[in-house]
Amino acid sequence: MQQPNNGAPLLEVKGLKTGFNIDGEIYHAVDDVSFKVNPRQIVGIVGESGCGKSVMSMSVMKLLPIGIGEITDGEVVFQGNNIEHLTETEMNKIRGKDISMIFQEPMTALNPVFTIGFQLDEVLLNHQNISKQRARKISIELLTQVGISRPDSIVDEYPHQLSGGMRQRVMIAMAIACQPKLLIADEPTTALDVTVQAQILELLKTIQEKNDMSVILITHDLGVVAEMCDEVIVMYAGKIVERTDVDTLFYNPKHPYTKLLMESIPKLHEEVETLGSIEGIVPSLKNMPKTGCRFADRCPAAMPECKTITPVLAEVEDGHDVSCLLYKSSRPVEEVK
Ligand code: SF4
Repeated sequence: MQQPNNGAPLLEVKGLKTGFNIDGEIYHAVDDVSFKVNPRQIVGIVGESGCGKSVMSMSVMKLLPIGIGEITDGEVVFQGNNIEHLTETEMNKIRGKDISMIFQEPMTALNPVFTIGFQLDEVLLNHQNISKQRARKISIELLTQVGISRPDSIVDEYPHQLSGGMRQRVMIAMAIACQPKLLIADEPTTALDVTVQAQILELLKTIQEKNDMSVILITHDLGVVAEMCDEVIVMYAGKIVERTDVDTLFYNPKHPYTKLLMESIPKLHEEVETLGSIEGIVPSLKNMPKTGCRFADRCPAAMPECKTITPVLAEVEDGHDVSCLLYKSSRPVEEVK
């Protein structure tokens, strides 16, 4: 398979549209999304449930439910290869080896009837030409690397015998077993308590630096983004509404949705009686507005034209893209004339 040129992004998503067939009609959960992930970069994808974050990661992994979800337009290019042109056998070689994934609830990803060691060995044996003994040795080393004490005995235990934090560490061990170039972490700490969350994030960051890995971190938690990410993409109702580097996003958020997400983060040095929350819910796929801004029904800054003019994602400042009619460059060309 083709390898990337120097300086080329590791992953490039171009105009991606992912649709779901509901009662014979196609509804797009991801609608015209473009972004890049460079080598060794951590890109955060933020938004509430139903914003299309996870569907996007399943599209990148080519793991959409067959016959229900499909990429209807655009491209996902990994290491210079359009994944649409890869066969299932070729994709299987990439998954787990070059791109791997960790999920919010490791119990759904770990098989309850096999030991931790068996499952780790399997990942290694599937992608590397090594003996079972060698796989077991590496499995124990991986468990040590992710901070599991007693790795020699944990290999013989079953997932239900471990705490949530330990299971997530095992998932990370499985995900990094083949030293992937890209790790997709989908809400990796949401199911864990706060202390364990911090430990897992620190572990991910250490491994990312040590292995020179790129990470797509999917989360609803801007606090996690602040800790971890270089670049941030804010998604709402299947579209990117803001994209910039992490410092700019926190010091100069521009989209009203991002600003509301910011207000929901607890601040260390400020005493607030209640945290901000965003009224209303993300529109369902069937109720997505056909024209206008998809955030209009919840936006405190909405103007009458927000219901009729659809904003476009455009650069409003150097390296800072926003999709909101409050900014002239986000207005469609025919509106600006
Ligand atoms: Fe709010 Fe209008 Fe901007 Fe949408 S386009 S975020 S409704 S101000």
